[in-house]
Amino acid sequence: MKNKVVVVGGGMVGAAAALKLAKLGAQVRVLESHLIDANEVLTSEQVDIRVSAINRFSESLLDELGAMPLLRDNRAAPYHQLAAYEQPNNTLLFDREEVSQTHLGHLIENKLIQASLWAQFAHYDIEVEQVTSAPITLEQNIDSITLHYDNKSYQADLLIAADGGRSQVRQLANIGVTGWQYQQACLGILIKLDAPQQYKTWQQFKPSGPIAFLPMQAPYANLIWYQDAAKLASLQSLSNEQLKDHVLEHFFELPGDFTVEQKALFPLARQHANHYSQGRLVLVGDAAHTINPLAGQGVNLGFKDVAALAECLEGLDDLGTCKALKEYERKRRGDNLAMMSMMDACYFGFSNEIKPLKLLRNGVLKIANQAGPLKRKVLEHAMGW
Ligand SMILES: Cc1cc2nc3c(=O)[nH]c(=O)nc-3n(C[C@H](O)[C@H](O)[C@H](O)COP(=O)(O)OP(=O)(O)OC[C@H]3O[C@@H](n4cnc5c(N)ncnc54)[C@H](O)[C@@H]3O)c2cc1C
Repeated sequence: MKNKVVVVGGGMVGAAAALKLAKLGAQVRVLESHLIDANEVLTSEQVDIRVSAINRFSESLLDELGAMPLLRDNRAAPYHQLAAYEQPNNTLLFDREEVSQTHLGHLIENKLIQASLWAQFAHYDIEVEQVTSAPITLEQNIDSITLHYDNKSYQADLLIAADGGRSQVRQLANIGVTGWQYQQACLGILIKLDAPQQYKTWQQFKPSGPIAFLPMQAPYANLIWYQDAAKLASLQSLSNEQLKDHVLEHFFELPGDFTVEQKALFPLARQHANHYSQGRLVLVGDAAHTINPLAGQGVNLGFKDVAALAECLEGLDDLGTCKALKEYERKRRGDNLAMMSMMDACYFGFSNEIKPLKLLRNGVLKIANQAGPLKRKVLEHAMGW
């Protein structure tokens, strides 16, 4: 008999988890509050303001799941260089040539990643169902787990919570989180550039918060502006033309003239679930960990969760085996925590004008840029290897 798996949340991570579990032979049901028509999304010209830097590890997972070929044909933009600096004359630059690769990663719209995964569901034993209310109880016994809604219940061998940072399933299971809300928020700005295709993504650290340039498929690019949340809210309320004037004052390195097309404000939180599993329940992606998006690692970590979970479950008769789920947690917690801590070191280390710290961080950038094998290791880590 096939194992039954229920995945709550069909975002990028939940959709990847559904496919991985179906590939292990499970019968999968995805419960999602916002259904999408994958075909419609993949053929739409409407560009999504939410984009992710997908590293090489995630790219190979998306390849294995059949999604990447659709994305390569559909506005996925490879980047070749990654730069970080405080002063433009002291740049830490990572280049594809240092690791003898064609590219370091891709910038891809979130909705395209999700849709390209959903487009694969038809090849497997996967059903998607819309849920319009919150689950009300979670019940477990030795050989099954049941999620109850007002008017319906779902029994499974394994329940995967992939319902994002505010996971209701995690809350129902009484799994607490540690973390905090950062003072800064970030404003995403989608621009249409009058410039050829760009291949360098860069981030400049400023005392008020970093700014970043993410080149999408020409003519689009995404600007990320970290700042005090109140200041960003007032910027968000401006017209696109007025916002452009502020962008010009802050983003000096843009490769051409541009129009502002869309803007969206995102709160920033760090959050880590106290446990990734409980009996036959397991958490993946943002339901387990939400990270400062400074280095664009959130969904990459989520995809690593999915790969590790599948590795721990492969070959098991019972996919809800508690010991295997604990092994998954053991594999992933340290890696996720290390990345969160690294992002915090950058956040707190760079968001100030304390003179000794300023000297130190510029020294670190300079040394790091010349650090040969160490630099290569950092780059490989960023690529997810
Ligand atoms: C500004 C910004 C920039 C970022 N840039 C990057 C980047 O460059 N690279 C990167 O790797 N990461 C990046 N991230 C992080 C990345 O967006 C998240 O890590 C990723 O979206 C998490 O995916 P997820 O599928 O776990 O959760 P989500 O994307 O939150 O998906 C959750 C899904 O569950 C559904 N859902 C929620 N509740 C329920 C419910 N009760 N029942 C049913 N369905 C439910 C939702 O509709 C959604 O489809 C960025 C984040 C931000 C804010």
